Amino acid sequence: MAANSEINSDYEDQDKEYVGFATLPNQVHRKSVKKGFDFTLMVAGESGLGKSTLVNSLFLTDLYKDRKLLNAEERITQTVEITKHTVDIEEKGVKLKLTIVDTPGFGDAVNNTECWKSVADYIDQQFEQYFRDESGLNRKNIQDNRVHCCLYFISPFGHGLRPLDVEFMKALHEKVNIVPILAKADTLTPTEVKKKKFKIREEIQQYGIKIYQFPDCDSDEDEDFKQQDQELKDSIPFAVIGSNTVVEAKGKRVRGRLYPWGIVEVENSAHCDFVKLRNMLVRTHMQDLKDVTRETHYENYRAHCIQSMTRMVVKERNRNKLTRESGTDFPIPVIPSTTDTETEKLIREKDEEVQRRHSEHEPEHEHKNAKSVQSCHQGKGWLL
Ligand code: GDP
Repeated sequence: MAANSEINSDYEDQDKEYVGFATLPNQVHRKSVKKGFDFTLMVAGESGLGKSTLVNSLFLTDLYKDRKLLNAEERITQTVEITKHTVDIEEKGVKLKLTIVDTPGFGDAVNNTECWKSVADYIDQQFEQYFRDESGLNRKNIQDNRVHCCLYFISPFGHGLRPLDVEFMKALHEKVNIVPILAKADTLTPTEVKKKKFKIREEIQQYGIKIYQFPDCDSDEDEDFKQQDQELKDSIPFAVIGSNTVVEAKGKRVRGRLYPWGIVEVENSAHCDFVKLRNMLVRTHMQDLKDVTRETHYENYRAHCIQSMTRMVVKERNRNKLTRESGTDFPIPVIPSTTDTETEKLIREKDEEVQRRHSEHEPEHEHKNAKSVQSCHQGKGWLL
């Protein structure tokens, strides 16, 4: 508050025509800090590529304390499971609710055909939930579980992308921001890292995979910034190293991996791209990842939904018209003809919600709205 009044008086002294909207950024800042931030990160890729270790290294937490690892026999018929871990992190008074979505079992079974499907379904379900909440009556406290970014781990042992990698990324690139990761980079020499990165980038282009695109930097940015931005773009796929242990290197305690021939340091940019990845995720592009999720991926989903709902209604209308014209004496059903139990359940839930709100408040206008919403639901069931 004090800072604000100072700004105000400064401006007032300088310019009598100062209205005060220059404080808008401060107002937004205060409000956002109070509300806190959230971010949902998905990690995907074959098991054993170091996903959990990297997540722990990125956020300095131990998110996988209770993880149960399956043996080879159990993994033969393993289906992809989706697990979710949430942690509240606070730094300098700014709160971040971080959700990590993991996909254990991905690529583990003998037959991995369409094993990306449950991951795609999970992402769609989060969009669907958001769409329902957004179209409901109480939109104030919607919990946003949409996935903002997916780190896709590529094995360092193959020659570029495997068919499963291509399939996964192609199936998901319209739903989520994919950031490719070259796992366990300490198993490769610098030349190998360079070659693999080049090959993977080439294949990504060749197969028409749309990974997350870093926004172009403004032409008036300073040269240092532009160079950093270019370096970030050239680093794709990020070659990373993860470690859950702290070792001593040159008299300093660092997160690293100790080998008989030396130490690899996770946060040393001469050893890997870990710091670049962390900065990108947390410091520079978190908001852009959220914006692209909202403006592109969710909008695509929403447009798709509305399109198919409209088609359903038109079909229903035409069907009703045809039945009327054929002169039948039977009453025309106004509820959707398919036995769509899911839709019916939703309508019931909405009706109950309307009833509840209605009995809680009962102001005149709400009463009217509730009635019209109810009749919409009874009529078509798609305006939810
Ligand atoms: P996940 O199944 O993908 O979650 O893989 P984990 O994080 O459980 O790691 C599997 C194994 O790889 C563990 O023994 C880790 O210590 C090891 N590991 C993790 N990250 C790295 C890395 O960057 N380099 C090397 N060489 N090994 C790693």
